[in-house]
Amino acid sequence: MACKEICIFHKAKSNGKDRYSNNQKRCQICEIFIKWEGLWCPCCGYMLRTHPRNSKSHKKSNSLKNRH
Ligand SMILES: [Zn+2]
Ligand SMILES: [Zn+2]
Repeated sequence: MACKEICIFHKAKSNGKDRYSNNQKRCQICEIFIKWEGLWCPCCGYMLRTHPRNSKSHKKSNSLKNRH
């Protein structure tokens, strides 16, 4: 898995706000935001991130359940 610089052609333009909600996805390998329909980076083949940091608390879901 490596960047082949294909992602540059799909590079998403910054709108200055929430890039994820603007149908933009981030590739951790290429370290770039791209506008791409698929779940996988067309460049390196790595899975794209579609959500902001919230996914980090995925494992620690207990803390959310305790809240009423
Ligand atoms: Zn790339
Ligand atoms: Zn990539």
